[in-house]
Amino acid sequence: MKRVFSGIQPSGVMTIGNYLGAMKNFVKLQDETESIFCIVDMHAITVPQDPKELKENTLKLAALYLASGIDPNKSTLFVQSHVPAHTELGWIMQCVGYFGEYGRMTQFKDKSAKKENFTAGLFTYPALMAADILLYDADLVPVGEDQKQHLELTRDLAERFNHKYGETFVLPEPYIPKVGGRIMSLQDPTKKMSKSDENQGAFISILDEPDVIQKKISRAVTDSLNTIRYNPEEQPAISNLLTIYSLFAEKSIEEIEQMYAGKGYGALKKDLAEVIIQGLKPIQERYYELVKSDELIEILKEGAERAASIANRKMKEVKERMGFIV
Ligand code: ATP
Ligand code: MG
Repeated sequence: MKRVFSGIQPSGVMTIGNYLGAMKNFVKLQDETESIFCIVDMHAITVPQDPKELKENTLKLAALYLASGIDPNKSTLFVQSHVPAHTELGWIMQCVGYFGEYGRMTQFKDKSAKKENFTAGLFTYPALMAADILLYDADLVPVGEDQKQHLELTRDLAERFNHKYGETFVLPEPYIPKVGGRIMSLQDPTKKMSKSDENQGAFISILDEPDVIQKKISRAVTDSLNTIRYNPEEQPAISNLLTIYSLFAEKSIEEIEQMYAGKGYGALKKDLAEVIIQGLKPIQERYYELVKSDELIEILKEGAERAASIANRKMKEVKERMGFIV
């Protein structure tokens, strides 16, 4: 059976971008594969985090995984910092990758741009991500399009390690949805939607209330062409709204274009807000039940034990191959 690994950072509250680009595939894959999902808190601290918020967001994300359909009886769900092998292999991966390779990563360039100061961890982020995946011999890594470059680097690092020390790591394949792999910001359709965006209006979080969703969609930027057509080059903002509509309503983009032929952006936005509200409603309802229950911590503890038993075995193998005394 194929093994799947993926993670989400508790760097804010999960957005509809994370949901459509990653989480939906996590839920699908858990039925067909041996799936391991992680709350990557060590990644979140590559940018400043408030300790209280980090803790809250970690628990929120755990509840959101379950509310979105991750079943702890089918999948392993755990918190990255509970399994120290991640940071251990992360360091080794920093010493396998080259400075130039990390410097070419677009996530690093985007997140460090216009910042006076940024951490060294933001630069070496892909080394830790490679470690996350390689520790579990994952065959498939469901991610959004923005993580494709990090996955390619992961494969390069694994190949380099295998070549130097002997077959140790499985080379993972990215698993990216054809539609929804890159949901764009509602305020700037040239930028991807991100949960850590300073502008709250740029994203819709899975936990946004109906009136907030209506407001954010009604304020979403459009264009002056006033025609509802899927054309990402000429009408990136409208195309993004159509993509979101299509995925939540489970209708094809052509169908939606036909429904709104000759209509204005206001009509599209009004219905889109409703489609999102209805789509998120069952997840929100499950979420509010789950956050109250005590089982959350128990599930994460069990998940960490299962994950550690796989990761620690791999770590021992890595150390032996590299010449560490184990
Ligand atoms: P941050 O801004 O803190 O980086 P993020 O929204 O980018 O947060 P991550 O935790 O970095 O979220 O990524 C979690 C998963 O969601 C990854 O698989 C990533 O590729 C995917 N993802 C993130 N943003 C989008 C998006 N706009 N569209 C589709 N998938 C996305
Ligand atoms: Mg991100």
